Amino acid sequence: MPTPKRVTVKAPAKVNLALKVGALDENGFHPVETVYQAVDLYDEIVATRDDILRLTCEGEGAELAGSGPGNLAWRAAELLAKHAGIEPQVHLHITKRIPVAGGMAGGSADAAGALIACDALWQLNTPREELLDLAAQLGSDIPFSVAGGTALGRGRGDVLTTMLARGEFHWVFALSNEGLSTPAVYNEFDVINPHAPEPAVAPELISAIAAGDIRVAAKHLDNDLQVPAIRLRHSLEATLRAGREAGALAAIVSGSGPTCAFLARDAEHAIELAIELQASGYVQRTVRASGPVRGAHIASVQ
Ligand code: ATP
Repeated sequence: MPTPKRVTVKAPAKVNLALKVGALDENGFHPVETVYQAVDLYDEIVATRDDILRLTCEGEGAELAGSGPGNLAWRAAELLAKHAGIEPQVHLHITKRIPVAGGMAGGSADAAGALIACDALWQLNTPREELLDLAAQLGSDIPFSVAGGTALGRGRGDVLTTMLARGEFHWVFALSNEGLSTPAVYNEFDVINPHAPEPAVAPELISAIAAGDIRVAAKHLDNDLQVPAIRLRHSLEATLRAGREAGALAAIVSGSGPTCAFLARDAEHAIELAIELQASGYVQRTVRASGPVRGAHIASVQ
C-alpha cells in the first residue's frame, strides 16, 4: 500500500437514550449505565503528514474546542504515537458541526476521529481492542465514539456491549448558544442525589430498541442528569415543554445538556417538529439527525 498523505475521518455525535447515574465512588467517579446511540451529525477530522503535531479547527464553536494540547484530538494523536513508539508527526484539521459542550460528545468524537485517522496515516494497523483501550484512557465516552451504533455503556460508560437495535430513530436537537459544563452538572446531581442507587437502564427500553418499537422506546427515554441540568439552566424546562407541545414522541436533555433531544415519528415528522420548535420562540437553533450510524470511520484516503 502506498504511504497515505491525507486521511479524512467522519466522527458522529451521540445521544443517550438512557443515562442512569450512581453515587460518586471512592475514586471520584460516577458509575453509569447508559444506552448510547450514534447519530448522523458529524465532525470531520483530516490528518495530513507533517514534521510536528499541529492542530487547526474551524466551524461550530471551534474557538472553544481550542487548537493546542487541551483539544482531545491532540491528546489522542499523542497517546497513539506514544503507544506505537513513534513521534506524533501530523497536522490535524477539524471541522466542527457537533455543538461544543452540548452533551453530544463532540470532543469525544474528535478524539475517536484522530485515533482512527492517525492510525491509518501512520499505517499502524492497531488492533481494534487496543484502539478501544486507548480511547478509554482519553475519556469515558470515547470508546463509544469509536464503536458507534447502539450500545450499552457500563462502568464509567467505557465498558461497551453492542445492543440489538432495529429501526431508525429520527431526532430534532435544540441547540443552545451557550454550553453547560459536564462536571458542573454532575456536581449538581451529587447535591440532589447524595445516595443514588446502582444505575440500571429499564429493561423495557432495551427490549423496545431490539424490537424497533420507537413509540415504546420513547416512553422509556430517561436521563438522570436532566433535573440537575435544568436546575443550572431553567430555560431547558420551557424548551422541553415546547417540544412536547409540538408533538414530539419524547423530549429529553441530551447527556449533560444543554442540547435537548426530541424524538419524531419519522423523517417527515422531524421536519415538522423542527419548524414548530423554531416558531415556539423557546429554541435558538435546531438540527435534525437520525441514528443509529457507525462510529468514527475513514471517509477517504489520498
Ligand atoms: P459529553 O457529551 O461527552 O459530556 P460535551 O458534548 O458536553 O461532552 P464537548 O463538546 O466534548 O462536550 O466539550 C467539552 C469541553 O471539552 C469543551 O468545553 C472544550 O473546552 C473541551 N474540548 C477539548 N477538545 C474538544 C474538541 N475537539 N471539541 C470540543 N470540545 C473540546
